Amino acid sequence: MLNNLKYKVIPENWQHANSYLIQTDKNYLIDPSIDFDDSIARDLNGIFATHFHFDHINQVDEWRAGSRVKFAMPQKDQPLLTDPLANCSAMFGQPRTFSDPDFYYDDEQIIEIEKDLFFKFYLLPGHCPGCSAILVSYREDSIIKPFVLFSGDVLFADSIGRTDLKGGSMNQMQESLKKLIEILHQLPDDLPVLPGHGPAFRVSDAFERNPYIQYFM
Ligand SMILES: [Zn+2]
Repeated sequence: MLNNLKYKVIPENWQHANSYLIQTDKNYLIDPSIDFDDSIARDLNGIFATHFHFDHINQVDEWRAGSRVKFAMPQKDQPLLTDPLANCSAMFGQPRTFSDPDFYYDDEQIIEIEKDLFFKFYLLPGHCPGCSAILVSYREDSIIKPFVLFSGDVLFADSIGRTDLKGGSMNQMQESLKKLIEILHQLPDDLPVLPGHGPAFRVSDAFERNPYIQYFM
């Protein structure tokens, strides 16, 4: 497999949200809510947000300043940068605004972040306007193979993201869950799904025990 491709879970220190690393010879940080860490930053090659809620991105400025690598987030979450209510920083008692990212990604966009390593973004609004899942795949023997799916705050082990925050919509969430089911059906049963909160699970677990997935199947 591509240069010992692996992933690592790092719960952030409030224990509210998960940050993740995708690791090759380099590091890619998904959801910068953990404190800046020089040992990670040294080989860092990109920072990505599944969505722009404060519990997932509160350390983004520190990571960008400390590592000088590029930060990408969903285009549809752009309004959240300057809206402390919508980015939930006000809810966490630390109202904040943020500067523009280096890149925005959009639905179904694919980025080859290094040779033979791909991130594909799926826009799945409902929890917030830009809430996304990120499918990480690698190329081996000319075949693209899925590695992990980051499900952000769309899908958790036994539930889904809340829809009552500013920018949330239950109607959109229902449409997103139907779309996500289509996506999951195309992925291997044992593929790890890494959510924004709580424990990891497998694609098959989503079908076997997540009541929201079962409802829309
Ligand atoms: Zn969220």
